[in-house]
Amino acid sequence: MRYEFSAGGVVYKKVRSTSSGFKYLILIGQHSGHKGWVFPKGLIGDHKKKEGKEDTAIREVKEETGVEANIEKALTPITYWYVWEEEKRRKTVYYFIMKATGGKIENHDWEMSDVKWVNVEKVEDTLTYPSDKKVWEEARKLL
Ligand code: ATP
Repeated sequence: MRYEFSAGGVVYKKVRSTSSGFKYLILIGQHSGHKGWVFPKGLIGDHKKKEGKEDTAIREVKEETGVEANIEKALTPITYWYVWEEEKRRKTVYYFIMKATGGKIENHDWEMSDVKWVNVEKVEDTLTYPSDKKVWEEARKLL
């Protein structure tokens, strides 16, 4: 069995809305390998030795979605299991609420086959995995 640790973001932006003044949009991508709709994230320490959770989250969000974002608050970590090359893996993911500051989703890399900004009402149904829905449940209350 192997333990893995990743970090990523529940990234939001506040935009003008005709009806209610402002609304929040949330950044979600479709993983190009397993095709699930997920929040952007990546392995801690995969690129640079000793890179911390926060820096990993900022870098992965930028690479996977094209969006630059700042960390605002840590969310409760989630854990899931999967099997890769006949080995059981337990992955813990540290997500942060992050505020978009720039960039463009058109500049996302190959790790996502699609990236979109989703209305808060549609986030739960768009997400593929129960653990991500749990993260969203917590994040939504803090927005
Ligand atoms: P990372 O983005 O952390 O570098 P990765 O892109 O290599 O990781 P994962 O997204 O962790 O890989 O996917 C590995 C396996 O876990 C896939 O089979 C995927 O379907 C499954 N998986 C991904 N996210 C979740 C989740 N939140 N809950 C359960 N299973 C998941």
